[in-house]
Amino acid sequence: MALEEKREKRPPVTPMMIEEEAALRNGSRGLPPGPWAEAAGPRPRTTERHIAVHKRLVLGFAVSILALLAVTMIAVLLSVRFEECGAAADGPPRAGGNGSLSGVARQPPGAGQPLDRPEEEARGGEAAEEEEEEEEEEWQRRRELPPWARPRLPRHLRPLHYNLMLSAFMENFTFSGEVNVQLEVRNASRYIVLHAHRMHIEAVRVAEDKLAGGVRVARTFFYPQTQVFVVVLNRSLEVQRSYNLKIIYNALIENELLGFFRSSYVLHGERRFLGVTQFSPTHARKAFPCFDEPIYKATFKISIRHQATYLSLSNMPVETSVFEEDGWVTDHFSQTPLMSTYYLAWAVCNFTYRETVTKSGVVVRLYARPDAIRRGSGDYALNITRRLIEFYEDYFKVPYSLPKLDLLAVPKHPYAAMENWGLSVFVEQRILLDPSISSILYLLDVTMVIVHELCHQWFGDLVTPVWWEDVWLKEGFAHYFEFVGTDYLYPGWNMEKQRFLTDVLHEVMLLDGLASSHPVSQEVQQASDIDRVFDWIAYKKGAALIRMLASFMGHSVFQMGLQDYLTIHKYGNAARNDLWNTLSKALKRVGKSVNIQEVMDQWTLQMGYPVITILGNETTDNIIIISQERFVYDSDTKPKDPARGDNSYLWQIPLTIAVGNTSHISSEAIIWVSNKSEHHRIPALEEASWLLGNINQTGYFRVNYDIRNWKLLINQLTRNHEVISVSNRAGLIDDAFNLARAGYLPQNIPLEIMRYLSEEKDFLPWHAASRALYPLDKLLDRTENYNIFNEYILRQVASMYLKLGWPTNNLNKSLVQASYQHEELRREVIMLACSFGNKHCHQQAATLISDWISSNRNRIPLNVRDIVYCTGVSLMDEDVWEFIWMKFHSTTAVSEKKILLEALTCSDDRNLLNRLLNLSLNSEVVLDQDAIDVIIHVARNPHGRDLAWKFFREKWKILNARYGEALFMNSKLVSGVTEFLNTEGELRELKNFIKSYEGGAAVSFSRAVETVEANVRWQRLYKEELFQWLRKSLTQ
Ligand SMILES: [Zn+2]
Repeated sequence: MALEEKREKRPPVTPMMIEEEAALRNGSRGLPPGPWAEAAGPRPRTTERHIAVHKRLVLGFAVSILALLAVTMIAVLLSVRFEECGAAADGPPRAGGNGSLSGVARQPPGAGQPLDRPEEEARGGEAAEEEEEEEEEEWQRRRELPPWARPRLPRHLRPLHYNLMLSAFMENFTFSGEVNVQLEVRNASRYIVLHAHRMHIEAVRVAEDKLAGGVRVARTFFYPQTQVFVVVLNRSLEVQRSYNLKIIYNALIENELLGFFRSSYVLHGERRFLGVTQFSPTHARKAFPCFDEPIYKATFKISIRHQATYLSLSNMPVETSVFEEDGWVTDHFSQTPLMSTYYLAWAVCNFTYRETVTKSGVVVRLYARPDAIRRGSGDYALNITRRLIEFYEDYFKVPYSLPKLDLLAVPKHPYAAMENWGLSVFVEQRILLDPSISSILYLLDVTMVIVHELCHQWFGDLVTPVWWEDVWLKEGFAHYFEFVGTDYLYPGWNMEKQRFLTDVLHEVMLLDGLASSHPVSQEVQQASDIDRVFDWIAYKKGAALIRMLASFMGHSVFQMGLQDYLTIHKYGNAARNDLWNTLSKALKRVGKSVNIQEVMDQWTLQMGYPVITILGNETTDNIIIISQERFVYDSDTKPKDPARGDNSYLWQIPLTIAVGNTSHISSEAIIWVSNKSEHHRIPALEEASWLLGNINQTGYFRVNYDIRNWKLLINQLTRNHEVISVSNRAGLIDDAFNLARAGYLPQNIPLEIMRYLSEEKDFLPWHAASRALYPLDKLLDRTENYNIFNEYILRQVASMYLKLGWPTNNLNKSLVQASYQHEELRREVIMLACSFGNKHCHQQAATLISDWISSNRNRIPLNVRDIVYCTGVSLMDEDVWEFIWMKFHSTTAVSEKKILLEALTCSDDRNLLNRLLNLSLNSEVVLDQDAIDVIIHVARNPHGRDLAWKFFREKWKILNARYGEALFMNSKLVSGVTEFLNTEGELRELKNFIKSYEGGAAVSFSRAVETVEANVRWQRLYKEELFQWLRKSLTQ
């Protein structure tokens, strides 16, 4: 599953405050959002359903009083009814027949039957309730939770095969289904407990396989707390036997983007609908009764009945289609291999497709709305998918497992994409691409999402994590391979060696440096908590740890280990220890012995990461002291787990180290650091030589040195930076800024390092610098001495800005071949220059905007459009704001719409910002998922920060109602609005606000408090030190 990620589309710093240009300010936009950037549409609360249930409960109570009068008689009647129920459902359904469900479910939901009938109805009345109570008491006496009340399914049954027959009624968005599950009994039990949620069950029948005799169902009931459906039998199912469970049910094709849901688009002025699924992590249970945990792998045979005006898709190809006279058709899909429920999928739509075939014969199709297919917007994705399947087959030495892979581009989806086996679903903006209006960044986004989902066809689908605590196993790998796979497609881009650092490593170390972080492996039980594990820690820290592992193992041994792991566990499940064991064996084969489990457990089960300090290269006997401690931004915060202070955190760290002098750097040596402090002898350490740790930043930790070594490194960068690798230059910048921010290093060191950038021609160090400057800028942007800082940065940027100039035309045709590094570097420098108020940059932006307004032709180069729009809005008068507002309404291109909306938040006119905030909650004007971005971007603008913060508190009830159930949206909003608050007053306001509201979002708020506390602490301790140095430096 790919989370939405916004890659660097922002001027990273804030408006300047210098005198004559006080009015010419450029607003700032976006630090990479918190986890779950711009993902889902909101999930409406199901209030109507709840009310309906309450009414029925009242009704049920009245009925139960009457029932008391004739309790025995009813009990007798009920037992008869259940028998009938079982008997009525006997026999196979008529294939393809209208209302193909047999027995009591003769009427399809399309025939006007109410669908959201109360769950209580399935219970069978008062007698059953009494029985249930007695049963619960019995479990209480045994001091055990009944099997349906446990957070995980009881282990006594295992599904072997599902036959699932569905009828989709697109005209009223309902569907009916019949599932037949073949069950294997491991321990005798009277209970069948499986997941089922938000559906109405019509009939249940249990039969012993191969024998005619049914097993009598005593009663059935839903247990909503654990989202299960329970079938209580009159006698126990016997061990080692297999049984067939048949359930007939119906449900809604939901409006909410979960389970089997609907979505729509407009074609030739006509609205068309489609139905598609999103089951990960726990929503298959909303589409059919099933054992909805990844460990329960089974085979699936799916049939979908729909009107012939639609087509249906599922994981496997269609085997046969049966047409009926009344315009309906039933597609029978081939049986799947063993798989888990969360990546099962189907869709009912009237899309068209284009097709290609891989060397090994896998048919790849891209399905999308017909106009997009006609325009060829899917061709890029289709082409790289074919190449990527070939790449993965070669890399993993395991062929792709299914005969086909369909990529489905849908207008709405809760995530960027979902890796359903053989039927991966993508939100349109992450797969359709029109080269003539797409920037390199957009192309990069599309590419990486596809690489990610394809990796999952192996990591996730073929080999599946045992449980959600190790979701990072699949997500970390897929995220890591985004970079490896993109390097295969574009070898010159150096994604894994370079871009990985700024986009993944530096990014997640910000988050994981908080005391309120959490380990990458997180224990979860409740379905409601499972969504929580899909966060940046799982994705980005997971990927960073895998990269560190690949690096200390050696890439070829690592690859060999992965091949073994996939071969051994294919069509099954694996836990992290299975991976560690396979990798250890691979190492052993090449004569190395490292206990990978022992090493990696420390990295995956402990939160945070270490900072290594290397001291003492002044000594004559070549001895250095290496120590480790947990890195935290705010050392005043109490550790989350008070039982273990930060002192007890220890890691086994593969520290690579090299010695350099003015013209040369030694080859790296690896030192395993496992103690708090260690002495090591370093050969060839001369007086003027410096030490460099974490070569190419392959390790997931920071490195600090004594001041003398820092000064030597700075000297080296200034005299000849190329002695140090590009990735280490970026690493030194990021480490220095963050060590200073956390108080491990004097404030001037990072600013001194920056000075060499005027000679830096590589993109990555600039990128690292601009990202690292961003939080510092936010700490200073409302202080009275801000202009000193601003002036300093402008000086560092000026000469490179002059050297590179502006792009002259669009890149369109040569987009893919374009020099990515060069264009990205130019963009980064322009962004810094415009953000900090370089006059030429401002004039250029204003000229481009004026040209657009007067000619009504947008000739602004694609790669810098967002910078120009934002700068224009902040510098120029209200008319420009109105112009951009108008363009925002009239444009249909999704990517363009987004940057226009963000540009509106760059204004320094507080009235306009307030107007925008208020408009953002109007769904007619701003899409629900974009409203959050508006509020966050206003908060990043120093002129709007207090407005957004006030707006957030005033509208919290509305916002929480809108986004509350979409955990990641809420946490993105909370962190986005609060992360740059940095005064004592704002900290007080935050704490008071949290006290005054109830429920939800607790994790986000505790992270927010810690961040703001760290900001306030920095202001108190280090701000003056920084300004003093800057003053001195500027007068020199
Ligand atoms: Zn994923």
